[in-house]
Amino acid sequence: MARDAESGAPSAATSLEFFSQISQTEWPQIPNPWAAGIAALLYQLEQTQWWPEADLAERQWRQTKAILQHAWATTPLYREIYGRAGLAPDDIRSRKDWQRLPVVDRSMLQAAGAAWRSDSPPQDHGALLQHFTSGSSGRPLHSISTTLTHLFKTALVLRQHQWAGRKLGCKAAFIEEVDGGAAAGIRHSGTWEKATEHVVRTGPALAISLRLDTATQLEQLRAFEPSYLIAYPSVIEALARHCLSHRISLPFLQQVGCFGEVLDPACRTLARQAWNVRIVDMYSAKEAGPIALQCPVHDCYHEQPEAMLVEILDADGRECRPGETGRVVLTSLHNFAAPLIRYEIGDLATRGRTCACGRTLPVIERILGRQRNMLRYPDGSARWPSLSETGFAAVFAQAGDMPPVQQFQLVQHSLARIEARLVTARPYTAAEEALLADYLHGEFGPHWQIDFSYPDAIARGPTGKFEDFLSHVAPEAMPPDAGPQEGDAA
Ligand SMILES: [Zn+2]
Repeated sequence: MARDAESGAPSAATSLEFFSQISQTEWPQIPNPWAAGIAALLYQLEQTQWWPEADLAERQWRQTKAILQHAWATTPLYREIYGRAGLAPDDIRSRKDWQRLPVVDRSMLQAAGAAWRSDSPPQDHGALLQHFTSGSSGRPLHSISTTLTHLFKTALVLRQHQWAGRKLGCKAAFIEEVDGGAAAGIRHSGTWEKATEHVVRTGPALAISLRLDTATQLEQLRAFEPSYLIAYPSVIEALARHCLSHRISLPFLQQVGCFGEVLDPACRTLARQAWNVRIVDMYSAKEAGPIALQCPVHDCYHEQPEAMLVEILDADGRECRPGETGRVVLTSLHNFAAPLIRYEIGDLATRGRTCACGRTLPVIERILGRQRNMLRYPDGSARWPSLSETGFAAVFAQAGDMPPVQQFQLVQHSLARIEARLVTARPYTAAEEALLADYLHGEFGPHWQIDFSYPDAIARGPTGKFEDFLSHVAPEAMPPDAGPQEGDAA
């Protein structure tokens, strides 16, 4: 439960205010059916976070078996790989048996295509939702989920706001992908995000495109004065460094939220130095949703066993003990449309010990990998180099029989040159390369020289993660900031 930071007691400011659908019923609210489902989930999550570990494990195992049986019966991919392993559904009776199931990775899901989908997702799980992830891993993936999956995701996002002690009536700024329709990469909104829309009342929100340069983002933040800033760690780091070097303070800021990338502990220190605020992190992935939320009290992460089974496996495929680091393998417990069962996401994590906060949800001490860089420009600015998924897909839609990109990596070699490393069935023709180059020029600016190369595979980075963008241009190699110096010291 979100409690007032000073007294430790819940207050109106930290409680969720649902929209009331009944006339003249101001308080307490009677939410609409969608929000009522979320409220019911949140009510249960309030209890389960304190349950004895054995109770959590037992209930989670029941749900795990349900998704496994469904996948086995209705999903060609799993039927095939489990059959090949000589396994039948009745063989999996315990968590020990569970470890006999083969692990799948992104390339297997990619190759499976439609065979990854259930041929009969339960009707009452709602509409099918499409997701295209260009992915921090550089392997584009098309996944589907259901309204039910979205319900769980929404409840976990709200749990995260509550754990972080955020007052939803305050202003929040998000630095993220802002769709092309928004003027100059800025979008004002009356609700914080999709999870809060039509569900709970929030203060106003500002979405700032992560493609804008750091100085412009900062200008927008200072005009809006949000209490909360939520963005990728690399964006936070760039903003904090800019504020420190230009002696800019953000006195309105109460807390920073991170998601989407691995948070380096140094970034927490940087946010304290720059703005005297705490960072609260969420470990999530587009294809899987929230995986673990930072503890309300400590810097470690709690898994969300009500929605996902997280395994951290050593080189022999055994569960890591506290303090050991291994591969993260996920089983999403409520996506019956494209089941994710023992999915190796490509991250490394360190298993944590029981948390002193008293919550019994399993602990991840630290998440490693998924390092990303900023694209450096000749004028000294730096931008987020991500590619819009729709734009990327449009190139292929335009190009007829262009084989898909199995894996890609962009490498900035200088302030003028980007190498696009592509793993494809065959090298692209000059005409196909020209289409891609046009698209990349549109994303990053027209001045770049873009060279294409076609390696057989792209190796993991030093952190064990596939990196989709690497910069060989160090920040210190850049020309001094030519922009006007801002002198409003803290
Ligand atoms: Zn804790």
